[in-house]
Order: sequence, then C-alpha cells, then structure tokens
Amino acid sequence: MSRDYDLAHLHPVVRDKVVSLTKKFEQESLPFRLCEGFRSPERQHHLFGQSRTRPGPRVTNADAWSSFHQYGVACDFVLFIDGKWSWNDKGKYKKYWTRLHVLAKEVGLKPLSWELPHLQLESISLNELKQGKYPAGGDESWADNLSDAISNWTLSPAPPMPSGGFQRPPLPDTATEDSPSLSSSISSISSQYRVTARNGLYMRAGPSTHFNVVSTLAANQLLQVTHKRDDWYQVDLEGDGLADGYCHSGYLVAND
Ligand SMILES: [Zn+2]
Repeated sequence: MSRDYDLAHLHPVVRDKVVSLTKKFEQESLPFRLCEGFRSPERQHHLFGQSRTRPGPRVTNADAWSSFHQYGVACDFVLFIDGKWSWNDKGKYKKYWTRLHVLAKEVGLKPLSWELPHLQLESISLNELKQGKYPAGGDESWADNLSDAISNWTLSPAPPMPSGGFQRPPLPDTATEDSPSLSSSISSISSQYRVTARNGLYMRAGPSTHFNVVSTLAANQLLQVTHKRDDWYQVDLEGDGLADGYCHSGYLVAND
C-alpha cells in the first residue's frame, strides 16, 4: 500500500494540470514535487483507520471511495528539500504553500483548507464520482487502473466501472439536440441484451454477489451491455451510455 505517483494512473484532465503546475514550480523555483496521485481504496481505508481503529494522528477525514484520489482526480504536492519530503508550513515556508494554492487555482485544481498538499479537480463532485459519472476524456491507462481498483475491492460497494477507451458513438447527421432518436441511435450501435431469468434478475452495485442489489430486472427486459468483466456485465438500462449496475452474464442473451 505504498504511495502511487504514477501520472498514468491520473485522469488525463488532471494529468495535464499536474504537468502545467510542475512547469510553474520550475519557473518560480518552488521546491514542490508530486508526492501522491492515485490512491487505492485499501490505502485510503488504512489511512482512515489511523486515529480511529489504530493509534496515530488523524491524517484524513475520508474513508475508501470518499476521496478524489481513488478516482485519479486528486494529487498531493509536498515540499522536497535537501532530498527529503517536508510538510513544514512555518516561517519562510508559509509563503510556498500560499503560492501552491494560487498556482493550483490557475490550472483548475481546488485546494482544501484543512489539508495543505491536497489538490483536486474542481469541476466535479464526490457524489458524481461515486455514481460513476467520471470526467470526459478518460484514457485506457486511467480506466484500467481504476477498473482494477474497483474489481479488487471487496469491503463495501464500489463505484461503477469506467467505460475505458469507450467513447459514445457520434449522433447520426439527422439527429438534433432534443431528437428522440438519441437513445435509439445509441441502442442500435451498442449491444442490446435481454434478461432470460424467469423471476427477474438482480442488478448489483458491483461485479460480484458481495455487492448490494440495487434493482430487480423483469424477465425479457431489454438493456445495453457497456462493459464485460469475467462473468459480470456492466449494464445501462436507459440507453443513455451511463452504467446503472452489474448483472450476471448467465441470465443475459444478445438480442439479435
Ligand atoms: Zn490528497
């Protein structure tokens, strides 16, 4: 559960901001370095336990999946002086942290007043992230890393899988903003499936029976499959391209 400062695990939108910010630090000779980017839910849960289930100072208010770090949209910058990390914010160092926050806002990263090194994407809420409404433009290295974190997590419901390199299909030329053909155009392109369970089918929050049942689907109900992972399919009920939950693949057949 070591620190992860791999830029590839950050969402591309945040990755670009981190690169811009690092350039600004160089221009101003500010000794900040990226200390941590993506943070696994296991590590977040472990840090959360400090001062609660284990001795030690309180280091975070967020449990697993409640920090932007788990979604690759937060980063921590810490002073790196004489070969050592420093959280010193007293005396001559105070102005460095003030400057960190000014420059972060310039690139669209939001500081938290109670956690000096922490910066997060400002254009999205934690609730949206928890519901799988991830920022547009996610790439494979970000999505693969997040998908692994989601499928390895077993303690509580995990957020929906990102759709990876999947991009929404473009609308046909004839479709307009409010055209009812929006959903049908997506249906015709993504894979349509039908529920074959006689008494309905459990849709769960994640890809295993450890996850809560979020809905029960009717026999013969039609839905879209947006992602396949082992025996579990990520499904989209409304055809809006957004994931609603997971169903076991044994009760879904392609509707063609
Ligand atoms: Zn942080």
